[in-house]
Amino acid sequence: MFSQKNKINVNVSEILLYLRCPRQAYYTSRGHKLVFDTSSSYIEGMLLKELALAYPDVVNRCTSNNESILEQLQSEFIRAAEEFGMIYSAELTNVSPEIIENARSAVHEHLVEIGENLTSAMAENGKEKFLSSITPVRTEPVLHSDRPILTGIPGKLVCVDSALVPSIIKTGNYPENGVWKNDRLHLAALAMLVENEYKNAVEHGFVEYARYGIVRRVKIRPDDRRQVLKVRNRVEKIKDGTMPERKESQLCDKCNFSQMCSTKASLASKFF
Ligand code: SF4
Repeated sequence: MFSQKNKINVNVSEILLYLRCPRQAYYTSRGHKLVFDTSSSYIEGMLLKELALAYPDVVNRCTSNNESILEQLQSEFIRAAEEFGMIYSAELTNVSPEIIENARSAVHEHLVEIGENLTSAMAENGKEKFLSSITPVRTEPVLHSDRPILTGIPGKLVCVDSALVPSIIKTGNYPENGVWKNDRLHLAALAMLVENEYKNAVEHGFVEYARYGIVRRVKIRPDDRRQVLKVRNRVEKIKDGTMPERKESQLCDKCNFSQMCSTKASLASKFF
C-alpha cells in the first residue's frame, strides 16, 4: 500500500546520490550544497556528454569505416568543445583555462577509440538497428509517477521494437561485461517512470559509456526494481529527517561535508 508511505517526492538523482553516499543525500536534503570538484575529469565528463549527444548524427553520416567516422567525430568534437562553455557557463565560472584545455585534450585522445567502438557496434548490429538504440525520440523529458512518488529525467528515450525505453549517458569507465550495478538501478528507476508515462512495458534500456563509444543493452530485472523501491523509501525517510549512518569511503577525502559528518546516527538509522 502506498497510502501510508510514499508521501514525499523522491527524485531519481537523489536515489543516485544515496547510492553514492547516504549522508550526502541527507545533507543535501537539509539544504546544504554539495560542492562537486572542478578538476579536469569533471570537466571532461561535461564535454563527453555533449559529444555523446552527437553520436547518432556521427553514425548516421558516416560510411562504415574508421576514417569516415573519425572525420565526423573530429568535427563534432570541435563543435562540442566550442559550445559547452555556453551550455555549462555557471559550472565553468571558476574553472581555469588550463583545466578546460586539459579536459579538451583528454577527450580528444579518445576519439579514435570511440570511432572504432561505434564502427564495431554498427557492424555487429547493423547500422539501422544500432541507430535506433542511440537516436533520441525525446531528450531529457521530465517524468513523474504518483505510485510511488518519483520524478526523474532520462538522458534520452529511444524507440526500439516500437517501445520507448530509457537510455543514460555515463562518462566513466565501463565494466568488462554488462553495466555497473548503480547504472542498472538508475535505468530500472527510469524504466518505471517510462512505463507510468507511456503505458508500455520496459524490459530493457541502454547505457552509453561515452568516453569509449560503448553502448550496452541492459535487461531490467525484477530485483533491480525491488532495489530501487527500497532505496527510494530510504531516501524518503532521509528527507523526512532521519540521518543515516556514516559510510566511510574514498569520497570522504574530498567531501565538503566531512567536518559536520562526524555526528553519529541514531540507533534506528543503523538499519538503513
Ligand atoms: S564525509 Fe564521507 S560519509 Fe560523510 S557525507 Fe561526505 S562522503 Fe559521505
